[in-house]
Amino acid sequence: MKYIGAHVSASGGVENAPKNALAIGANAFALFTKNQRQWVSAPLSEKSISLFKQRCSEGGFDPRYILPHDSYLINLGNPDEEALQKSRAAFLDEMQRCEQLGLCMLNFHPGSHLKKISVEECLDKIAESINLALAQTGGVTAVIENTAGQGSNVGNRFEEIRYIIDKVDDKSRVGVCIDTCHTYSAGYDIVGAYDEVFEEFDRVIGFDYLRGIHLNDSKKALASRVDRHDSVGDGTLGIEFFKRFMNDARFDNIPIILETPDEERWLDEIALLRSF
Ligand SMILES: [Zn+2]
Ligand SMILES: [Zn+2]
Repeated sequence: MKYIGAHVSASGGVENAPKNALAIGANAFALFTKNQRQWVSAPLSEKSISLFKQRCSEGGFDPRYILPHDSYLINLGNPDEEALQKSRAAFLDEMQRCEQLGLCMLNFHPGSHLKKISVEECLDKIAESINLALAQTGGVTAVIENTAGQGSNVGNRFEEIRYIIDKVDDKSRVGVCIDTCHTYSAGYDIVGAYDEVFEEFDRVIGFDYLRGIHLNDSKKALASRVDRHDSVGDGTLGIEFFKRFMNDARFDNIPIILETPDEERWLDEIALLRSF
């Protein structure tokens, strides 16, 4: 079965996210558990936590299909020691928020070398950051999202994600989220060579590690290394890709999250995807 939703707003409190997901006919969703543009947010209140859990269970949202996303400020591979510590502290706080909410995953972008260290050194720092966070928490899996490779972001090659996973001590709590826009922008031709790309993913990383999908069309060309999401069927991936994806059983039973730009269309996009 396919579990489809979108990255919904949690404005006014995390307890509003399941309401917003229900309104678009979703059976999965993503959210930020704090303001994604600030380093520090107030702790989650007991009231927010219990309302969130209550609304998730009333709405039929199982934690296995809820994929929280961390703050965009966090860079777990930051070459600057002080900035790295700040990111690690913020990441730990995000993991703990997930624990409090009864969630089992936290999705994040691996990091950026900022042209100050090599890709390999950056990946080493990221793996160490994950190890530190996992050692201080329980029950939450760190889910690495592949990137478009924009700027100095690492994690656009499957090999780089594999490299990180290899250095994580607890393999049972590390996973991967494939963003379809990022994949295509990074140079993997999921339109012209769908089978080959996912075979390569399986060979290099393995479907066993796949914990979620960000299902987005792309405004940019193959291998552009530019991260610009488009609505389903409107971009360079095109509608045939989405039909094929929806009929691919390898993507059953994981959260499939739209991060498409027009939230007014989410209800229709989800219904369209289900019709395939
Ligand atoms: Zn992301
Ligand atoms: Zn994404």
